[in-house]
Amino acid sequence: MSLSGKTAIVTGSNSGIGLGVARALAGQGANVVINSFTDSKEDHGIAEEISKAFDVEARYIQADMSKGADCRKLIETAGACDILVNNAGIQHVAAIDEFPVDKWDAIIAINMNSSFHTTAAALPLMRAAGWGRVINIASAHGLTASPYKSAYVTAKHGVVGMTKVVALETAEEAITANAICPGYVHTPLVEAQIPDTMKKYNLSREDALRDVILERQPSKQFATVEQIGGVAAFLCSPAADQITGTTISVDGGWTAL
Ligand code: NAD
Repeated sequence: MSLSGKTAIVTGSNSGIGLGVARALAGQGANVVINSFTDSKEDHGIAEEISKAFDVEARYIQADMSKGADCRKLIETAGACDILVNNAGIQHVAAIDEFPVDKWDAIIAINMNSSFHTTAAALPLMRAAGWGRVINIASAHGLTASPYKSAYVTAKHGVVGMTKVVALETAEEAITANAICPGYVHTPLVEAQIPDTMKKYNLSREDALRDVILERQPSKQFATVEQIGGVAAFLCSPAADQITGTTISVDGGWTAL
């Protein structure tokens, strides 16, 4: 398989998009590192399940992406990093003049600063291996804004900017850096919001999805974690060797509006 022998580290990969990307890369034969800050039995179980399902090495490494030293230690502990997927992220919604400072700091640290620390630690390993891929899971909110998401929009725009700088600093090497910008993706977190939205607006599931949750997504469909994983796998393929420093939107037309 195309990624046999490569090691992929996916931050925040015990659920949602990160898990989908880890599974997609394992499906291409990559050994994967699953990460979260929780260190639970379930976290370790995910790595075991992926290892068995795809016949690759998969291990769990605990690290808190809100802490720079932990981010760097994650890469050091893994010992190899051919593919770095910066995915860990959180959200908080509030008007900017009421935005809790601790939430602002946490979002900037986890959604943006962590990518600086992991990338800084991973690039020497990629250079030593002579090949590397940095894939940042940004967002449609890395390219456009919504009210009440100041910290998230700031962090995701920052990640898109950082992606371009990493691409330029590695341009003459066999290393690429790109950002995937999903619109709304069907994850357990999003699924959990559907019943409340139906109740709040007295709508059927179909109408709640179309008119509220997917209001800004012209396709009126969620992207799936498998589709985001597929794009990540494509970015690791030889077809993507000359794709660097750019964003790939997977947003059903959101940013075309
Ligand atoms: P999720 O809540 O399922 O996943 C978030 C992941 O981040 C989890 O694995 C969690 O363990 C991890 N995480 C959170 N804080 C952490 C910390 N301090 N240290 C280590 N890991 C931590 O949500 P998701 O929707 O899969 O989001 C994944 C990424 O995709 C995020 O960066 C998010 O901004 C981005 N994104 C999601 C959507 C969407 O619609 N779901 C859209 C665009 C972008």
